[in-house]
Amino acid sequence: MKKNIKDYNLEELKQEFVSISEKPYRAEQVFKWIYEYNVTSFEEMTNLSKELREKLNENYTLKNFSILKKLESKDGTKKYLFDIQDDGNAIETVLMEYKYGKTLCVSSQIGCRMGCKFCASTGIPFIRGLTSGEIVEQVLAVQRDENVRISNIVFMGIGEPLDNYDNVVKAIRILNHPKGLAIGARHISVSTSGIVPKIYDLAKEQIQCTLSVSLHCPNDEKRSELMPVNKIYNIEELIKACKFYIEETGRRVSFEYALAKDNNDNLEDAKELIKLIRGMNCHVNLIPINKIENGKFIKSTNENIIKFRDYLNEHGIVATIRRELGSDIDAACGQLRRQNLYNKVN
Ligand code: SAH
Repeated sequence: MKKNIKDYNLEELKQEFVSISEKPYRAEQVFKWIYEYNVTSFEEMTNLSKELREKLNENYTLKNFSILKKLESKDGTKKYLFDIQDDGNAIETVLMEYKYGKTLCVSSQIGCRMGCKFCASTGIPFIRGLTSGEIVEQVLAVQRDENVRISNIVFMGIGEPLDNYDNVVKAIRILNHPKGLAIGARHISVSTSGIVPKIYDLAKEQIQCTLSVSLHCPNDEKRSELMPVNKIYNIEELIKACKFYIEETGRRVSFEYALAKDNNDNLEDAKELIKLIRGMNCHVNLIPINKIENGKFIKSTNENIIKFRDYLNEHGIVATIRRELGSDIDAACGQLRRQNLYNKVN
């Protein structure tokens, strides 16, 4: 099978070129064609000789995704279902518009192993982690389709990014690299359900990306019920790892808290939450829980959500309510599920 040229970082590509008896600066040229000009064929890389272009074409692929489906929400959010080309699998990616720019919500795996009860990505078969090239291609494919520049990336699509650690970190470095997509690390958020050892690893990478932690509950009893990962890494260990991340990177950690009616949305929960994270350099992102098919969780009332937020704010915890985007096209948090499990026949 041809190797995906987007799976290489610049250093690796230079070495690869040396191994096929080409000059390393050719790798720089190819990188520029991919990340600056976003071309979709080696043929278009016109400062390479015809022979080299042919050689690349024979041995490598650019693995451009094709769009199987594109849905547009009333609020301007766009959801893509991409054919990832070689194995009949499809993934979802969501483009959101904010005042400060365009944010892309990327998937990190085909399926997810975490089993969170409230998430639509639970229950679809887990196939594999995406390669770094497949993660980066989500950004390139959307930039080509919409002719825009993506300014922010959130790893909040399908999958658990820290369960595909090496590929995700590699993708972040390529997204961030000045000769890659040059997206500032502070504009890249990694969201995790809480794989504690990998939070330590990420802290040590010195990348400066934002860590978002899907906390959702203030105590182990409730959290273990909703998020099986909590039975392996409990809240105490998780908070300790977050503190390490803050210390090591100097960055504020973001806690995601999806509010479900009569589940985790009363003031007792808020009180426990405050005790847990008081004094940390953090921010709480409140998400009105989104309904999923057969989901038994109901969104908290607006009144409760506001009460919860105000209570946190009054007690010194910075909390904001995440604007709901794309729920009419099942593109909101927790609604991604690799729509219509793609098979080539459909
Ligand atoms: N696996 C990672 C990233 C993917 S989910 C993680 O768990 O963080 C992105 C965010 O959406 C997470 O905070 C997740 O808990 C949240 N989420 C999942 N289902 C949801 C739902 N039904 N409503 C609101 N948020 C949800």
